[in-house]
Amino acid sequence: MIIIASQNGYVGIEAAMDILKQGGSAVDAVEAGIRCVEANADDHSVGYGGYPNLLGQVELDAALMNGRDLTSGAVGALQGYKHPISVARQVMEKLPHVFLVGKGAARFAAEMGHSSCDLLTGPAREVWEQRLRVDMAALDLTRLTEFPDLWRWVEIATDPEHAAGTTNFIAQDMEGNICAGVSTSGWAWKYPGRLGDSPIVGAGLYADNRYGAATCTGTGEMAIRASTAHSIVFYMKMGLSLTEAGQRAMTDLNDLGGRYISRMNFIVLDREGNHAGFSSSEGGTYIYMTGIMDTPEEKSRLCVPVKERWERG
Ligand code: ASP
Repeated sequence: MIIIASQNGYVGIEAAMDILKQGGSAVDAVEAGIRCVEANADDHSVGYGGYPNLLGQVELDAALMNGRDLTSGAVGALQGYKHPISVARQVMEKLPHVFLVGKGAARFAAEMGHSSCDLLTGPAREVWEQRLRVDMAALDLTRLTEFPDLWRWVEIATDPEHAAGTTNFIAQDMEGNICAGVSTSGWAWKYPGRLGDSPIVGAGLYADNRYGAATCTGTGEMAIRASTAHSIVFYMKMGLSLTEAGQRAMTDLNDLGGRYISRMNFIVLDREGNHAGFSSSEGGTYIYMTGIMDTPEEKSRLCVPVKERWERG
């Protein structure tokens, strides 16, 4: 039994481990752990209290994947519901679909009995307003929805300092089943409707009991283009060690062209319960907890540099 998570998973990893100890499944544990992060208003990258899009609307993305049978559920650009990970699980369990977005996802959340709420907290609104006012000083932010050329503002408002976040959880239960889950409010001040890697199977997450699982945080556009989470698991399937697989998938990102290449991080668990974290920048950590530990421990991520470039238009 083991759970690994991104650093912001501290608030949920013990609750998740309690579930595994009581004989719960890896899917139960991942959902429970992520729900704690989604409810944490101080975490501005996930769930309630997350930073909004350019229009000031909080849009949430989440997904989980069950490595036992490769089933998966995801929601994207979901507004008004605090626990996208639970809605994603219900997509997996109740529908013949894998992925719902926008209004359809919100409708389904309501049908599943989730109560709606305003996800934009005062502190998150303040940071959004302050950031936009740097470049839009004279503009009335309440009229942004009427802008015919909102797209022109997205690069200006994209804020690498507030862009990072997202929570990753991977659990392996008593039966050896592995589940991977991800939840995020995405890039701060993103263009409305933008989806990152987090809810996309193969990009932000992948789990297969036979080999292991991987989940990502960082610039989602890169993980989408390189199918990063799937690549890591695929490299393990091809016989690479966990460390080699992570290094290779990170190095692959250097082959991506385009104007926006930035940070990437992932955590990886193999089927034997070995784990590691990787980051394209120095100093990153992740946390893990096994069934015999009383508290989680923090571990450094292996730094595999990616050549960053960020060219504003
Ligand atoms: N990967 C997330 C996204 O692109 C953001 C992050 O992890 O910082 O939406």
